[in-house]
Amino acid sequence: QVPPGYRAHDPESLRGYLAEISAVRDRLGGDPAAWTIEEVGDGNLNLVFKVRGPAMGVAVKQALPYLRLVGEGWPLPLERAHFEHMALSHEARHARGLVPEIYHYDETLALIAMELLEPHIIMRHGMIAGTVYPKFADDLSTFAANTLFFTSDLALKAAEKKAMVAAFAGNTELCKITEDLIFTEPYMVAERNRWTAPYLDPLAASIRDDGDLKVAVSRLKVKFMCDAEAMLHGDLHTGSVMLTPQETRVIDPEFAFMGPMGFDTGAVIANLLIAYFSQVGHESAPGGRDDYRAWVLQATTDFWNGFRAKFKKLWEENGTGDAYPAPLFASEAGQKRLAAEREAYLDRLFADTLGFAAAKIIRRILGLAHNIDLEKITDERVRATAEARCLRLARDMMVNTGAYGSIEAVCGQAERLN
Ligand code: ADP
Ligand code: MG
Ligand code: MG
Ligand code: MG
Repeated sequence: QVPPGYRAHDPESLRGYLAEISAVRDRLGGDPAAWTIEEVGDGNLNLVFKVRGPAMGVAVKQALPYLRLVGEGWPLPLERAHFEHMALSHEARHARGLVPEIYHYDETLALIAMELLEPHIIMRHGMIAGTVYPKFADDLSTFAANTLFFTSDLALKAAEKKAMVAAFAGNTELCKITEDLIFTEPYMVAERNRWTAPYLDPLAASIRDDGDLKVAVSRLKVKFMCDAEAMLHGDLHTGSVMLTPQETRVIDPEFAFMGPMGFDTGAVIANLLIAYFSQVGHESAPGGRDDYRAWVLQATTDFWNGFRAKFKKLWEENGTGDAYPAPLFASEAGQKRLAAEREAYLDRLFADTLGFAAAKIIRRILGLAHNIDLEKITDERVRATAEARCLRLARDMMVNTGAYGSIEAVCGQAERLN
């Protein structure tokens, strides 16, 4: 089943392998025998090694033929490294400096050697510690606006866009994970579901019994499956952002495919809202994290408003794709109509964003994969309290999406529920 030539590296076999790759060997410098190599993968899916030489460090990510979170019983195609590499390359072009630089890619080994991000840490850990990231909202809104706009029909010619759809169409098994784990299982009895029992039992049951919610999530699912709007990162949570207060990098786009833009923007907002509600479990005294809570909501607001402004400007200045043909809007009246249409487009994208954000929140509390923001709260009553607040907001965002006219309205509702 594993393709010929593939083997999962351990630190020693990786040393021998990298010693033969000049793009990596020369960067590390010195004698390969003196390199330090440690496996650090904390993710669910892959091996990640940190390799350090006298000159600099390199990160090496290798896909495993099974899902690490669950074990060898859940096979997963190695081709996801191909899609991750392809997505990283597009992201590097469109969002320069916001992704790790790639040094080497080996298709057979499903292996990517890239810039070692140091002293950057995973954002989720920073948010649990209460660290403020002043550049995050600006950087992530740039990342999302640029990668989504420039891979959409607003920027691309039809043939270029369809070539991208074809190039990413094969990432079906990772899409299927999303389709099952995010849009389906949390809303039914499923073996892989778990939640903070017994405290959340009634809320979990009410969600499984909520017809309006199941229709709403099914509409989002069909949008996810059908709307090839732009190249998505596909897993844009705070565990896929590595940063310092000065610098932001987005990693881990193995779920990349051509899908609805709101899935990526929604992922960012979902994870910020989860971090917001989690603070009750991380403060040493009640109210101890109030300043931090205020920053999280400000970052949420700045992310969306920044994204919207940047996306609109990109469209105004680079709207050379085959969508919205210029001759149709050439007159002064036409220009006015197009300007209004951009606002309508972004209003629709905001509604998608809120729906997908809600789906992302619910799956982290009732589905298979949970967030350490919440999981690290050892007092289960406190954790369940935070989780219930997340679920109430998410349910309302998904079913009453139209009631939220702005990101400020979402943050206001979060404050009322907290
Ligand atoms: P997975 O797909 O298994 O989630 P990730 O790409 O998210 O794998 O990487 C897992 C972990 O490895 C990250 O959470 C981070 O701690 C570390 N890591 C990944 N890429 C780098 C990098 N370029 N530099 C430093 N650490 C990294
Ligand atoms: Mg990851
Ligand atoms: Mg992951
Ligand atoms: Mg991943």
